Amino acid sequence: MLTDMPLLPRARAHLSAHALTHNLGALSGLAGVPLLLPVKANAYGHGLAQVLAVTRELPSVWGYAVATPMEAAELCALKPGKPVLLLTPADEGETRELADLGVLLGVSTPEEAAALPSHARVHLKVDTGMNRLGVRPEQAAQLGRLLAGRGQLAGLYTHLASADDPDLGSARRQLELFAAVQAEFPGMLAHAANGAGVLSFGPLPGMALARPGLASYGYAAPHLAQVLPLRPVMTLTARVGAVHTVRAGESVSYGGLWTAQRDTQAATVQVGYADGYPRNATGQAQMLVQGQRRAVLGRVCMDQLMLDVSGLDVKPGDWLEVWGEASVHPGEVARWGGLAEYELLTGVGNRVERVLD
Ligand SMILES: *Cc1c(COP(=O)(O)O)cnc(C)c1O
Repeated sequence: MLTDMPLLPRARAHLSAHALTHNLGALSGLAGVPLLLPVKANAYGHGLAQVLAVTRELPSVWGYAVATPMEAAELCALKPGKPVLLLTPADEGETRELADLGVLLGVSTPEEAAALPSHARVHLKVDTGMNRLGVRPEQAAQLGRLLAGRGQLAGLYTHLASADDPDLGSARRQLELFAAVQAEFPGMLAHAANGAGVLSFGPLPGMALARPGLASYGYAAPHLAQVLPLRPVMTLTARVGAVHTVRAGESVSYGGLWTAQRDTQAATVQVGYADGYPRNATGQAQMLVQGQRRAVLGRVCMDQLMLDVSGLDVKPGDWLEVWGEASVHPGEVARWGGLAEYELLTGVGNRVERVLD
């Protein structure tokens, strides 16, 4: 035993069950179908177990999509009680184990199909323009019939490359190519839309499911933000480790990038780039403290950052909101860091405790 003292985390990612449920209901309502919720990368950094706890009883969530065999196994160990689809190829041994767990396998090639155990159930992935995974549309009917003949085909899907582009021409072409494949398998469960697809197109004829990821967690491209009132699900908080005075003329943090013009109260906040706070936000970063936006002083460090709290009542042990719906929008922090929201959220570190609110 290390110690009898309680050891507390220094940063917490609070997940709002309310905001997540709201987003999922709104997206499912707009798409007109239930969701195959992407929970890859630890549910976009929000915590797989926490997202599962919120969504396992929700009728708006049909099942879950993951990106790696380990994610699939981890999810199955949590007994989701709903279908799980692996979006990427697995090798032969993994496929057997995943089929035993009841995981649906995304299959793109005849070689993958040939390596499947007989009890595997698959969704055939059709490449309509993303050029990442999938069988070409002109070869899809043949591969699909082979899988259907073995009783293994349980769905068809494709992925849109540019649904967040205001010009939806290429997304429409992808959907047309996919519809031609769907026509070969009447009544087969099908899905195509990511979050941008749901927000851009609303209900799509012939689709049984939609796969909004980032939108489910509360974010949309600027031109799609007005379509639905999505709420950021994650609030990041961090503990103040120390408060001290920086004297006029002194510099703060690595490289001395910031120099005090006058005596300044600085709080050393226990969150840094190892926790997912972007190092490149240095120079622009702010946090909201007691209703006031305050500047992060100098270079963001691995584990800590310094914040101007002059004139405020901030003490060691206080918890501050780093980002969240009620303080600084995570999208703003991402922009300071030159990141997409995808990167900010999936970059939230392992030592940040995920808490369900
Ligand atoms: C990640 C992923 C999604 C979700 O995409 P968002 O842009 O987050 O909505 C949907 N489908 C596939 C195949 C994916 O890999």
